[in-house]
Amino acid sequence: MLVLLLFSLASVALGDQCTSHVLSSGTHAGAHGIGCVKSECCQFGLQLGDLCPGSDVCCFSSDTCSGGSQTGGGGCPHIISRSEWGARAPKQHIGNMAGPAQYVFIHHGSSPPCTTKSSCIGKVKSYQDYHLDGHGWSDIGYNFVVGEDGNAYMARGWTEIGAHTYGYNSVGIAICVIGDFNNRLPNDAALNTIKQLISCGLAGGYISSSYTLKGHRDVGSTDCPGTALYNLIHSWPHYKSGTQRYG
Ligand SMILES: [Zn+2]
Repeated sequence: MLVLLLFSLASVALGDQCTSHVLSSGTHAGAHGIGCVKSECCQFGLQLGDLCPGSDVCCFSSDTCSGGSQTGGGGCPHIISRSEWGARAPKQHIGNMAGPAQYVFIHHGSSPPCTTKSSCIGKVKSYQDYHLDGHGWSDIGYNFVVGEDGNAYMARGWTEIGAHTYGYNSVGIAICVIGDFNNRLPNDAALNTIKQLISCGLAGGYISSSYTLKGHRDVGSTDCPGTALYNLIHSWPHYKSGTQRYG
């Protein structure tokens, strides 16, 4: 009763509520509140504290604890946080993209697959080790990694410039699926998670509504993301082949 009373007072006093609030300025102007969540669950701390009851915050990115499924978060998948998968700290932060991503690139890891959370965590860690120690990069190169356990794994996230698609890192988000998809497709769990990530990024204002979807091989001399997966995404919304830059 007390909580309800406080909530109602706060709502009236503020004249606004989280899910109807739209950020009016800053890098993420236009982002909608996805709901009231615990502060530690709001990705990137992109939050306002005065639109929600108690100690909850209004989050403008993703609810990394529930995946947004309980908060109307644009169909966001469950996103395993860096701390949950045991990420090493980045050597440095490269900086943020100037605005919403204009491109979404699909990659594959060209590694053995994984179908459980524990085995997928091992793969994500091995990708990060390879990128840090093998390539000497600042961090795991992708923005997100997806496993056939159906989870999305936070890599550089929605805003940080990645190291994945030469010439497009500062304008594109990379989603890498764990496995090798030249001769077979990722399972439905992984495919659904890719689609949910894209709709989540659109809802949060991290991906431009006029984005272009591509496979890595469209713009680089690589077989990534594997022939089977590459052929599949030709039928997905916003796909455009070739190296031409749009937008
Ligand atoms: Zn690739």
